[in-house]
Amino acid sequence: MRRTKQNYRCSFCGRDKSEAMILIAGIEGHICEVCVEQAGEIVQEELYGGANPNGPTEGKPGEAPAFSSKINYKPQEIKQRLDEYIIGQDDAKKVLSVAVYNHYKRLAQPVAEDEVEIEKSNIVFVGRTGTGKTLLAKTIARLLNVPFAIVDATVFTEAGYVGEDVESILSRLLQVCDYDVSAAERGIVYIDEIDKVARKSDNPSITRDVSGEGVQQALLKMLEGTDVNVPPQGGRKHPEQKLVKINTSNILFVCGGAFDGIEKVISRRLNTQVIGYRGETKEKIDRENMLSYVNHQDLKSFGLIPELLGRLPVLTYLDPLDQESLVRILTEPKNSLLRQYKKLFELEGIELSFTEDAIHLIAEKALEFKLGARGLRSICEAIMTDAMFELPGQKEITTFEITAAYADEKLGRSKLSRLKAA
Ligand code: ADP
Repeated sequence: MRRTKQNYRCSFCGRDKSEAMILIAGIEGHICEVCVEQAGEIVQEELYGGANPNGPTEGKPGEAPAFSSKINYKPQEIKQRLDEYIIGQDDAKKVLSVAVYNHYKRLAQPVAEDEVEIEKSNIVFVGRTGTGKTLLAKTIARLLNVPFAIVDATVFTEAGYVGEDVESILSRLLQVCDYDVSAAERGIVYIDEIDKVARKSDNPSITRDVSGEGVQQALLKMLEGTDVNVPPQGGRKHPEQKLVKINTSNILFVCGGAFDGIEKVISRRLNTQVIGYRGETKEKIDRENMLSYVNHQDLKSFGLIPELLGRLPVLTYLDPLDQESLVRILTEPKNSLLRQYKKLFELEGIELSFTEDAIHLIAEKALEFKLGARGLRSICEAIMTDAMFELPGQKEITTFEITAAYADEKLGRSKLSRLKAA
């Protein structure tokens, strides 16, 4: 068989010759250096370490995947994979890819002989609602095939008060991996709304701040790494309950929050810093993009305690989404909203399309709602509901186009616009 140029790609992962450093030719196909390395690891495990107790990384199609203990991607590859699902947020993706890579590298590291112990790199995301914080954490967990749980910091209180114990964070993780403790111990936990447990006053001794500082204190040990006795069903611990012991040393914690008003804190800090410099050396500050300057000191001023910040060494921010990004979110990701609607209609034998104007209108409306990409879904539902109600079963209709006029009309009639008017 004569090989044309397009045959030069890895037959295992599909990488093109330009993407692979080395491409080894076989009789029928090729293999790249990454796949050779992975194959080597599989052989190693099978021959010398017995079968991998955690099963294959990806799991066979149709089978629940076993959770992985290895990281098979380099940081750049992690970012590339994130790009398939998340629009923009390049800085956050880069920081996350490196942190996650290092975290799982650290797990794979044998007992340190040189006494260099790599510390855990828990992460904190700062960014407005609906900009992709949860999506980033969720996507990375899926990519790495590790258990993933989302919890909301506002439901927790310190021991002795009404609310859930922070230990129930780990109950969620346990539930996700069917109570497989060793899998849970390598999982990722996303703690949302961490900004809501910020200390309200700068003077910690004035009042006992139950909802805020108490929760931050309770999180400290867990974030750092310790044995935690977890109530398997979550909620509050009680004396007769059987508890499961989980070590959190290898669990990656990602915290996220909108930190409303933090721009002012950043701006104040930058202004004072700038005064300290001589005019000619001061860097020009991009006032439109204050969040990109966020640092740990700002989070401290916002009300996170230094001990907690010390356990969240990796800090990054997410950009607010503009209209163009919202258009891209609607159309580009592998499972973008518009693709999902197209698929739904395809199942009815109808080819659905959206005009450029209609797509821009949806993005424009989402921008007005100030919910980031979160608003896109409800707007699309309002536009699509009538069609989804009326078209199934109408055999003569094989195509359907959503124009800006159609979208506008449906939106005008929907509860959504009444809500906005109110
Ligand atoms: P938050 O920042 O509040 O955690 P989420 O990650 O939950 O926001 O985003 C809400 C929804 O909006 C997601 O399910 C996703 O569909 C969409 N979304 C948000 N940001 C992005 C983005 N940058 N790229 C693609 N989709 C996004």
